[in-house]
Amino acid sequence: MIEDGGVRQSIRLGTYRGVPVGVHWSVAVIFGLVTWELADIVFPGSYVGTRATYWVAALVASVLFFGSLLAHEISHAVVARRHGVAVRSITLWLFGGVAQLGGEALTPGADFRIAAAGPGTSLLLVGVFAGVQGLMSAVGVHGLVAAVPSWLWKINLLLAAFNLIPAAPLDGGRILRSGLWMRSHDRNRATVTAARVGSGFGILLIAVGFALFVRYDNLYGLWPAFLGWFLFTAARAEEGVAKVRRGLQGLRVADVMTPHPPAIASSTTVAELVHHHLPWYRTDAVAVVGSTGWLEGILPLERINSVPPLSHADTRIGQLEIPIAAVPVARPEEPVEDLLQKMSEAGGSPAVVLDASNRLAGIVTAGNLDRTLHTAGSRSGARSGSQSGAGSVPG
Ligand SMILES: [Zn+2]
Repeated sequence: MIEDGGVRQSIRLGTYRGVPVGVHWSVAVIFGLVTWELADIVFPGSYVGTRATYWVAALVASVLFFGSLLAHEISHAVVARRHGVAVRSITLWLFGGVAQLGGEALTPGADFRIAAAGPGTSLLLVGVFAGVQGLMSAVGVHGLVAAVPSWLWKINLLLAAFNLIPAAPLDGGRILRSGLWMRSHDRNRATVTAARVGSGFGILLIAVGFALFVRYDNLYGLWPAFLGWFLFTAARAEEGVAKVRRGLQGLRVADVMTPHPPAIASSTTVAELVHHHLPWYRTDAVAVVGSTGWLEGILPLERINSVPPLSHADTRIGQLEIPIAAVPVARPEEPVEDLLQKMSEAGGSPAVVLDASNRLAGIVTAGNLDRTLHTAGSRSGARSGSQSGAGSVPG
């Protein structure tokens, strides 16, 4: 799975070529459940063994299963990197693995290859484990030992098949998107369609989960329901982002920025800012300059709300600023879509716009983007129609 959302790593396992690889605490629960189910139900049901050998076989199978999940995610990451897309992290958690990408594929072909790499690797592992089982049987090894590769190729096949369901954020949803994107030359429209299939599939899983829960009074039904909820929320978020991008398609940074934003000395106190400067400006953020006039950072005005009124007189705006090193930089002629990407990578920080001689030309905040979308939405669809025909086809 490839996802941009909020799965956080709790335990760092290591790094793979600079990409942090870790597990979420919930993986311990799944590891325990899988091992227990194998040792207590699956293996004793079909093979002769002792309690100890069942547990050893179950542990080996679980470790190799989680290794398979990791291989699936790492293959997404490797192919993403090969196509110039940064990889933020790889995390194993409750519902398998997630590769979090720090950017987006530039072409439908790259989008397809990044998505297909995961299920492709899982299918490769199906071949490997089936081959091992075949070899074992050729040399006369049967029973519990052969049950491990046998279970592993089946679970990898299941993993590949599930991930190939064409519902974003599953890999199949990405593959669907790349196909629609290739056909329509419109990435955002393709993302919206794949995401809608994704939220529909999420709802279906929730319904199936509840039906299982009610029918069999079995807590396992809740697992598809939770997975469905996760897929539904991730798909809805993707659809939202794609719609924003669609609304901003074809616009340049200069079209949305607040030009000539106020530049205020970092030694200014919040009280001075509020009483002497802000009444004169309509802006969501001000530029903060040092004593030599250098741009030091940006102050989103909402940060002032975190300062208690009694401290306004002795809090300087330099203490509240986002330092310039952490602020995304844009050029006036740059497409807004590119800036959107940079702002989301910077955790939603406002951006500074510099002109050709690196002088401050403007500031772009989330508020600027909201207002642009709002005015674009209240006008007819004619403008956005002409914009998408203006040749801003990605790739
Ligand atoms: Zn995947």
